[in-house]
Amino acid sequence: MNSRRSFLRDAGLLVAGLPLALRAASPTKNQRVGVCLVGLGSYSTNNLAPALELTEHCHLTGIVTGSPEKIPVWQAKYRVPDRNVYSYTTFSEMANNPAIDVAYIVLPTGLHAKYSILAAEAGKHVWCEKPMALTTRECQAMIDACRRNAVTLTIGYRMQHEPNTRRFMEWARTQPYGKLRTIRAEVGYRMTPNFKSWRWQRELSGSGPLYDLGVYSVNALRYAAQEEPIAIRATHTTQRKEQFRDIPEITEFTLEFPSGLVGHGKHTSAETVNLLRVDCERGWYQLSPFQTYGGISGETSDGKRFSDAVRNQQAKQMDNDALAILNGTDVLVPGNDGLRDIALLEAIERSVARGERVSLA
Ligand code: NAD
Repeated sequence: MNSRRSFLRDAGLLVAGLPLALRAASPTKNQRVGVCLVGLGSYSTNNLAPALELTEHCHLTGIVTGSPEKIPVWQAKYRVPDRNVYSYTTFSEMANNPAIDVAYIVLPTGLHAKYSILAAEAGKHVWCEKPMALTTRECQAMIDACRRNAVTLTIGYRMQHEPNTRRFMEWARTQPYGKLRTIRAEVGYRMTPNFKSWRWQRELSGSGPLYDLGVYSVNALRYAAQEEPIAIRATHTTQRKEQFRDIPEITEFTLEFPSGLVGHGKHTSAETVNLLRVDCERGWYQLSPFQTYGGISGETSDGKRFSDAVRNQQAKQMDNDALAILNGTDVLVPGNDGLRDIALLEAIERSVARGERVSLA
């Protein structure tokens, strides 16, 4: 019960007073927050910048890039003035720029902690992409830096802002199909390693796709359960041994929750899977796919059907996170949520290395 309460509080579903984190100079209500995208790779270019144009409470005011050739393109497209353009070496100068309220860290995972901490020290609210960081130690350092500098910290788990997903989170509490028995969260698609990309390099990605994509199955088991696991058992299997020498190809894990609920998680680079299913005493509900930019589809044992409920997930996420700043309320996905997922990814590696069940108590 305590762990369920702490999940709800961490997830912002219990209002436990205003967070410490809201003393930074914040824009006033009805204003838009100025967002600086840090890293202009694929997700910033194809998803976040276009989504910012659809938001009601944000606008793109700044960019940080190490690629000078991108600057005129972005300036022309999004009207970013010279004074709001930074490189990784001039990053901290944004401390003196009131046009930037938020630094949104959209970099390889291994750089999340460094630039989140620098952003917090510059007095900027921090939005950081998933997975939060490489280790729980880095996650804790990010949380501490944001607390110390009185800025908010949120992790870019867009699905937790998506209405179908939020319905499942609510059903874990209201239990319309009776007590939850098992949850299954499976994610992956067939991939061939590309060791030139940071996504396959351990120092920048953690365990490759297990961190990048597998984190969604870990996060989904936790949000669909609305409680924290007490033990885990995990295995890696490899079908293509020549290609997957250092990075796991398939990972399966079982989580034990305090209520008796059991979670089955899977990440695979061998096939396409995308399922979140909850089996209860008197029925079931599922989303498949549960984790895509669009095309969310769901059903229940008694014939209800669900589909996409927002026009743009990233715009919804950024508007919610902006409103938390403007209204001084808790964010939906605090740093602690990202940290707990990284703790489970670390526990997966421990369980695999020892070949046994690992207690999380
Ligand atoms: P990407 O490879 O397309 O972009 C990464 C950017 O980081 C590039 O602009 C690159 O130049 C820059 N960079 C700076 N220093 C670097 C270094 N040392 N090595 C490599 N690149 C460096 O990656 P992406 O797909 O944009 O992913 C960025 C982040 O966004 C990751 O954390 C990823 O997990 C996250 N992401 C989240 C979602 C989502 O749905 N929430 C979707 C895609 C990506």
